[in-house]
Amino acid sequence: MIEWTCSRCGRIYPMQTRAWRCRCGGPFHLADRERERLRFSPECVDPSQNTLWRYRATLPLLSDVEPVSLGEGFTPLIPVEVEGASFWAKLECLAPTGSFKDRGTAVLASFLRSLGVEEAHDDSSGNAAASLAAYCAYAGIRCTLYVPAYASGAKLRQIEAYGARLIRVEGPREAAARAAQEAAERGESYYASHAYHPLILEGLKTLAYELWEQLPSPPGTVVFPTGHGTFLLGAYRGFRDLKQAGAIETLPQLIAVQAEGCAPLYEALRRGWEDVPGEFSAGETIAEGIRIVRPPRAPELLRAIRETGGTAVAVTDDEIREARQALARKGLFVEPTSAAAFAGYRKLLNNTELREPVMIPLTGHGLKAP
Ligand SMILES: [Zn+2]
Repeated sequence: MIEWTCSRCGRIYPMQTRAWRCRCGGPFHLADRERERLRFSPECVDPSQNTLWRYRATLPLLSDVEPVSLGEGFTPLIPVEVEGASFWAKLECLAPTGSFKDRGTAVLASFLRSLGVEEAHDDSSGNAAASLAAYCAYAGIRCTLYVPAYASGAKLRQIEAYGARLIRVEGPREAAARAAQEAAERGESYYASHAYHPLILEGLKTLAYELWEQLPSPPGTVVFPTGHGTFLLGAYRGFRDLKQAGAIETLPQLIAVQAEGCAPLYEALRRGWEDVPGEFSAGETIAEGIRIVRPPRAPELLRAIRETGGTAVAVTDDEIREARQALARKGLFVEPTSAAAFAGYRKLLNNTELREPVMIPLTGHGLKAP
């Protein structure tokens, strides 16, 4: 039996639970003894699969679970030099729905179908929602998304095109989250939360394995646009697996880039806090994908960043716009949230020692915000 454990109090839950978080409010993650059993080793890679399913042996799914796959993962890695700043770009924007979210969603959707789930929901009007809508469509699962009433634009049209049902919730972003959580508690459908579900992190950890396979030398620094921080945290778990397996000697520095308008993790690191306090409010930013006031996994995130010798940096909307244009002039068209990572890297270059080589995942396609 595969089990989750609460990241705060350590209570154990079976994987099949319909609880979306622990009774104490803490988010779940894969129990340590499962992690040990599914440990990465270079021999466990299946080179016949050109998707993240080449790491199937490390994913916490029972052996009879058929993957729900649209061809996600194993994205190209290319060397880039933009206005004097060199780095490796991982083209996550080439994922089936145009964002990195597909890594986590593919693993979660595979589990949901094996569980016989007929209806799933989440709260998002962005890349996570588009990803869930697409994978549910492929798996034959009905999908509902709670979105803020003010949401609009290309992403919403993408979500609707996949046939998901939209429920518009008045008020701030958090009101849509509360509506989704209440629906989960009423038992209406399965809460496939991209922020809370532990299988999301398990899918995202495959980024680290791919970098180990694709880079000529182990990554020194990895820079993430960070809101909920699931990509950073998932990758951190993957890098830890690689270190345990002796495949890398040190963990890369993990850098969280936030928008100045909404930078709770940046503030928490700067002030030496171990969690993000409740009183933060979200300012405006064009990097809508990382406009998250209170990431549920903030304590784990802050620990991961500190442990790897990483840091956080906050960038302005002008810096994001300039970064987006500079990337596009090199043939890389990404959405503003993705460009924020490059903006943060440029800002750090002047005053911080970063270990080489530097890798930046280009998380979302520019066509999502043209
Ligand atoms: Zn707990």
